[in-house]
Amino acid sequence: MGATSGQGRQAGGTPRAALADLLAGNRRFVSGQPVHGHDVTAAAAASGDQQPYAVLLGCIDSRVPLEAIFDQTFGAICVIRTGGHVLDRAVCGSIEYVVGQLGVPLVMVLGHERCGAVEATVQALRTGQRPGGSLAHLVDEIAPAVTEAGIDDPAVQPLAIRRHVRRTVRTLREDDLLAGPVAAGRVAVVGGLYDLATGEVALIDPG
Ligand SMILES: [Zn+2]
Repeated sequence: MGATSGQGRQAGGTPRAALADLLAGNRRFVSGQPVHGHDVTAAAAASGDQQPYAVLLGCIDSRVPLEAIFDQTFGAICVIRTGGHVLDRAVCGSIEYVVGQLGVPLVMVLGHERCGAVEATVQALRTGQRPGGSLAHLVDEIAPAVTEAGIDDPAVQPLAIRRHVRRTVRTLREDDLLAGPVAAGRVAVVGGLYDLATGEVALIDPG
């Protein structure tokens, strides 16, 4: 159980132990030796209650399936994915639920290289063409990170991806229902970056 198997941890574990479990799972994935990758079956899904020890917020990008890249089994992690891991009330409410009601001690925001949502935001700001519909919400939420990175910087996209992760982490740390547990050390909100080429997750804001 725990660090070697990536099984769900009982509620009440520490943020540090939860993070160690997650990163151990990513190392199994990177090394080509996942312990759960072979067991994605209905029988495994039906085998137990959920005891999640982390909640992950990532991008919808089809190359970044979070359960797989952290080699996690059913019931181990809660996953939320939106374009560019943008927050809205439903996302924040979901994280508040997992932390407050399920006792999960770790929140990870995971960005990734070559993120299409960040690229779309860079293009929107460079051309002045704000998209319509709800897509505008994604662009509006990512835009401050792009502006901070410098819209004219040739490396704006990788810089903005990192800044956007840090901004999302900061917003969650200041969330009404998360700020107290974070300040008390019962919950950690951390930021990571996924490398599409190697499969590795690097912590860029460990908290
Ligand atoms: Zn993305």
